[in-house]
Amino acid sequence: MGKIRLKADFTLDVPDDPEIAFIKGDGIGPEIMEVTLEVLNAAIDKAYKGKRKIIWKEVLAGEKAYKETGNYLPDETFDIIRECVVALKGPLTTPVGGGFRSLNVTLRQVLDLYACVRPIKWIPGTPSPIKYPEKVNMVIFRENTEDVYAGIEYPASSAEAKKLIEFIKENFGEKIREDSGIGIKLISKFNTYRLVRKAIKYALENEYPSVTLVHKGNIMKYTEGAFRNWGYEVAEKEFPEKTVREDEVFEKYPFGVPKGIVIIKDRIADAMFQWVLLRPEEYSILATPNLNGDYLSDALAAQVGGLGMAPGANIGDGYAIFEAIHGSAPKYAGLNKVNPSSLILSGKMLLEYIGWKEAAELIWKALSKTIQQKIVTYDLARQLENAKEVTSSEFGEAIIKNIYQECSPKGEFL
Ligand code: NAD
Repeated sequence: MGKIRLKADFTLDVPDDPEIAFIKGDGIGPEIMEVTLEVLNAAIDKAYKGKRKIIWKEVLAGEKAYKETGNYLPDETFDIIRECVVALKGPLTTPVGGGFRSLNVTLRQVLDLYACVRPIKWIPGTPSPIKYPEKVNMVIFRENTEDVYAGIEYPASSAEAKKLIEFIKENFGEKIREDSGIGIKLISKFNTYRLVRKAIKYALENEYPSVTLVHKGNIMKYTEGAFRNWGYEVAEKEFPEKTVREDEVFEKYPFGVPKGIVIIKDRIADAMFQWVLLRPEEYSILATPNLNGDYLSDALAAQVGGLGMAPGANIGDGYAIFEAIHGSAPKYAGLNKVNPSSLILSGKMLLEYIGWKEAAELIWKALSKTIQQKIVTYDLARQLENAKEVTSSEFGEAIIKNIYQECSPKGEFL
């Protein structure tokens, strides 16, 4: 068994038999994780004919961890994820009751997973509310650590809110109603730089044509506006030969932008919701502050079939956790009914992240083929005519069958 090594430049050295951590999760987590691991193992087996294999290492989090250790997130979980560098995670229920922070937020903060990455691409055959879902091919890079989500918030009439209101009035002469709750919006140069840097690198490595900075800088000049300005700045300073601002495209490349050059654009957040519906083909990588990205991710996921179909990852400098973007859906737990696609596609992202692109491609093809055969779980079955509704595990079996049929006996893609 090998270990993934994180190099000084935050790239990975991946052996042929890496140990990778997984968290089953709560509610529907264990059943979709079981299906997902079977699909991933089959794709790896088919693509590399036994030369590569993941050694899956279960780590505890959530209700199972609490039952076994009395702790929802044992320290050992963090230690093992750090050792493995990457992990796959099922959804975790946020424990009800005072004093608990979301386990998901805690994992992201402790491991400093500062970019929430969500590819949004339509799988042919998936029911979609839009006319041309095939035009949607975007990846959102959402800042994960700050903005109004930093957690600095005080209720109306609390001592902290009163003190802040008084301080602002005395020092800056601004009037705030006394019955206001107060939240602080933080957007820093450091966090914007590293998020946009990651988005540009991803665009270059995966040959995407543009990175769009999505902000509300016309109103919030020193937070969202600064995000926009710092985004352009990091492109100009760190990728001067590889990027071009949209407003300089014509001057610099009058005959068209060559391959390998990424256009940096910016759009106001509210207009962006319009553009992703009207002109999705003009956008590829979107870099956003935390709040805009939260809204935009779910809206875009809906365009390609909803939360059950969209994968996600939280990525830092090397460390990464890949996860289904929906929750633990407790009312469906144990019924072998829900759609495991979000977690399967997150697993596909994990394979791409460790460089096992052939296995990832097989999963994409086999999942597409299964949906086109109209073999689907209840959520898609109710939107498709003449669909064959199957359980989560039968859906996994159909994908695996397609994985093995998708290649010629020699292993070439058909
Ligand atoms: P949810 O996403 O768990 O479920 C809402 C509804 O969406 C379900 O009742 C079901 O109808 C549908 N759904 C969800 N996943 C599906 C799937 N794979 N296939 C088919 N249908 C699916 O949202 P919730 O009920 O608001 O949250 C339940 C718990 O999950 C909460 O404790 C919440 O904090 C937690 N949560 C965790 C994560 C995470 O781990 N990343 C994300 C969101 C919510």
